[in-house]
Amino acid sequence: MSASSSVAAGRGAPRQASGALWQALPFLGIFAAALILPMVSNDYWTLIATRAAIYWVLVSALNLVVGFAGQLAIGWVAMLTLGAYTTSVLVAGNVMPPVPVFPALGVAALVGGVFGFIVGLPALRLRTFYFAMTTLGFATIVTQVALAWQGVTGGGIGIVGPVLPAPFDTIFGFYLFCLGLAAFCTWISANAAHSRFGRSLVAIRDAEVAAESSGISKPRLLGAVFLFAGAMAGIAGGLFATLQSYISPEAFTFDLSVLFFIAILIGGRGSILGPFIATIVLTWLPEFAAPLVAWSTFLYAALLLAIVLLVPGGIAALLDFRSRRRIEADRTIVPRPELLPEILGGRKASEAITLKDIVLSFGGVRAVDGLDLTIEPGAVHGLIGPNGSGKTTTLNVICGFYRPETGSVTVDGEPLPAAAPQTRAASGIARTFQTPKLIGEASVLQNVMVGGAIRGRGSFVESLLALPRHRQDEAMLRHDALLALRCVGLGALADVRADRLQHSELRFLEIARALMLRPRFLLLDEPAAGLSAEEIRSLGGLIRAISRQGTGVLLVEHHADLIFEICDQVTVLNLGRELAAGTPAEIRAHPEVVSAYLGS
Ligand code: ADP
Ligand code: MG
Repeated sequence: MSASSSVAAGRGAPRQASGALWQALPFLGIFAAALILPMVSNDYWTLIATRAAIYWVLVSALNLVVGFAGQLAIGWVAMLTLGAYTTSVLVAGNVMPPVPVFPALGVAALVGGVFGFIVGLPALRLRTFYFAMTTLGFATIVTQVALAWQGVTGGGIGIVGPVLPAPFDTIFGFYLFCLGLAAFCTWISANAAHSRFGRSLVAIRDAEVAAESSGISKPRLLGAVFLFAGAMAGIAGGLFATLQSYISPEAFTFDLSVLFFIAILIGGRGSILGPFIATIVLTWLPEFAAPLVAWSTFLYAALLLAIVLLVPGGIAALLDFRSRRRIEADRTIVPRPELLPEILGGRKASEAITLKDIVLSFGGVRAVDGLDLTIEPGAVHGLIGPNGSGKTTTLNVICGFYRPETGSVTVDGEPLPAAAPQTRAASGIARTFQTPKLIGEASVLQNVMVGGAIRGRGSFVESLLALPRHRQDEAMLRHDALLALRCVGLGALADVRADRLQHSELRFLEIARALMLRPRFLLLDEPAAGLSAEEIRSLGGLIRAISRQGTGVLLVEHHADLIFEICDQVTVLNLGRELAAGTPAEIRAHPEVVSAYLGS
């Protein structure tokens, strides 16, 4: 570790710790107030608070699905229903000898988790409302089954809920149990949110192609959070049955599902504090005045409308003072390529990517038409040509977004893994995009950390519980991301929300994110578009320095000066075909290129 980076790490650690404490403060305050609530009020309010705590057990996990991953799982009451019936039926001994409550809750978690996973599967194919409808449909099925399966569930009459053993069998004892669990759930969901998994979920929501190009596997990640959210809802269901002391299908209304969902929307997506406060408010609101109970759906809708219109970011946006802080308007980007060896880990690439006879058409258009191209390690290969000549498509073929109709993409003669962006990223191919694809709501630092997500070693469960490997991953990603940011010249903006950056800064930010992969090959799609002359010079120096580290660079660009200055080889495309290829000097002298493309 160089002297400069250890200084920064040393400065970063205490700030990080105090930041975490600062973030925990509102939660600690609310839980402290919740602890003294039973002493200053009556059983009625304790029961309401118990209800809020149980709802939060479900919402805190569902928040990862809805608020972070952006999946509209609106019918999550189904998992609560499943958990409630599983626990009640097992404890009552309707199908087998009675099971004690805690093991029954464990089975409820299992059932909730399995069904959460199954219901989540369509999310990989269905978008937004279609997926929302499947979750609602499932909720209806569960209620209908509960109604019809009289021998086990008691049908419309219902079934007695379980009672927790002493000391949790009193109103106060049960409240303390639920409160403790709610606090635990807050902690694990915060851990997940501040892990590489939480950041990857947001990346899938806001910049899906960038997430895939960083090697993040959407199916695995979504599978894990759906399972987790289902399991927590199952446990919440068991506790809900205890709270109700008697459950029938009527207890699991559409209103309840809407409450869970809206708590997250009102709270603000990607936040924990927001949905936490919203869950408390929404649980409490209908009780606040008895006549309003019948109006609860209307109240939720009105509240949601008010929030969407007045504060689109929800409660979280109201509480976000940080992003209102002023940032310096007059900024210059000064890259520090000397930091590159530390970021790229001294990996000396020795292989070349070879494209052979690639053909790819969209309908009648041959976007790429028999292209040969080699990206050598340690060299910059320029790819130029008019708009629509197939440059971006070529990049997408190398990254695995498109499978070519004919032809092959090989690294040192070995075919690359099947055309899927995640596997290509994992094999060391990083890229940037013609239109920068970033998470506007996340900080610059978090955006860069997404780029290194797959280098983490801890599992999702280890992140939930903040076990050592999770903490090592976080420290490593944070350290490397700060380093990458300083390397591209954005170190001072690490804590700023990405949507406050200037366009040229976004281009450098994408390069920092790509560097986090420690790429063997870096594909840049028009990185100089929208940059000033001075910024283009900085960019050229940076790209050159990256290639000198052994990384093979493919540079798609319109700025002829930049191309001729830094490229070792240039390929000129026209209508998907190679018009010319050679050194910059040869291209500059090529008669057809000059007349068709470069002019005079
Ligand atoms: P360039 O990056 O050189 O400007 P592209 O590779 O983006 O060009 O596009 C090459 C051709 O392929 C264009 O005619 C474009 O309209 C077409 N094309 C690119 N992507 C798609 C797509 N997803 N669907 C249909 N046509 C596409
Ligand atoms: Mg393009």
